[in-house]
Amino acid sequence: MNQIIDKLRKERKGAMFIIEGPSGTGKGTIAKQLLEQDKNIKFSVSVTTRAPRYNEKEGVDYYFISNEKYDELLKQDAFYEFVDSQYGSRYGTLRSEVDSFINVGQDVLFDMDWEGARQMRAKAPDDVVTIYLLPPSIKELHERLVNRGTDSKEIIDKRMRLVLDKLSHCDEFDYIVVNAELEDTVKKIQRIISGERMKRVRQTGMKDFVTKLENEAKEILGL
Ligand code: ADP
Ligand code: 5GP
Repeated sequence: MNQIIDKLRKERKGAMFIIEGPSGTGKGTIAKQLLEQDKNIKFSVSVTTRAPRYNEKEGVDYYFISNEKYDELLKQDAFYEFVDSQYGSRYGTLRSEVDSFINVGQDVLFDMDWEGARQMRAKAPDDVVTIYLLPPSIKELHERLVNRGTDSKEIIDKRMRLVLDKLSHCDEFDYIVVNAELEDTVKKIQRIISGERMKRVRQTGMKDFVTKLENEAKEILGL
C-alpha cells in the first residue's frame, strides 16, 4: 500500500508558486521558512544587475550579474521572464531554474513582481499559482522596511512610493494572504501549497492508477 502511495507522490508535476506583494511585506522571510520546512520546494534564484545587500549571498538570494552579462542572457533567450527596469535594476528568471524541476515533480517558489507573474502565467497557465501578500497596514509596512535595516532612507521612500502601483495589481493573483502573524501566514501558504498539489493536472500518476482500479473492478465483476 505504501509503495503505491509513494509511487503516486513521485509521479506528479511540480507547480510554480509566485509570491508577490509590496516590498517589506515579508515575501523573503516567508519563502525562507517554506523552504526550510518543505524539502520538495526549490527556490528559483533570479539574476539581477543590482548590487548585493550585506546579508545576501551569490547563488542563494540572486545571481548578481553585470549589465553586459544580462544583455548576453537576453540574446541567448535564457530567461523564462524578465523585467528590464525595476528600482533602476534589471531582474530575470532563468529557464534552467524552472523546467528541469517541475517536470520531475519538484515545486518551485518565486519572489517576483506582478509583471513577471503575468509573463509566467501566459507561458505556463496550468503550472503557475500566484499568491499576493499584503501587509496588515501601511504604517507597519514602513516600519518593517526601516527595521529590516537593509535600505537607505532614499530607497525606502522609493519603495513606499511604489506601494499604490503594486497594490493595484493585487486582483491578478489567485490567492491573497495578509501577513500579520508570521507563523500564521506560513501555515496559510502551506495550506495553499498542499491544496494545489492535489489538483488533478498535477497528479500525473493518477491516470494510470485509475486505469489500474478500473481493471481490478472489471476483474472482480467478471467483465
Ligand atoms: P520582502 O521580501 O517582502 O521585501 P522581508 O521578508 O524582507 O520582505 O521582510 C521585511 C521585514 O519585515 C523583515 O525585517 C522581516 O523580518 C519582517 N517581517 C516579515 N514578516 C513579518 C511579520 N509577520 N511580522 C513582523 N515582521 C515581519
Ligand atoms: P529586491 O531588489 O528588493 O530583491 O526586489 C525588487 C523587486 O524585484 C521585488 O518586487 C521582487 O519580487 C522583484 N523580482 C525579484 N526577482 C525577480 C525576477 O526574476 N523577475 C521579476 N519579474 N521580478 C523579480
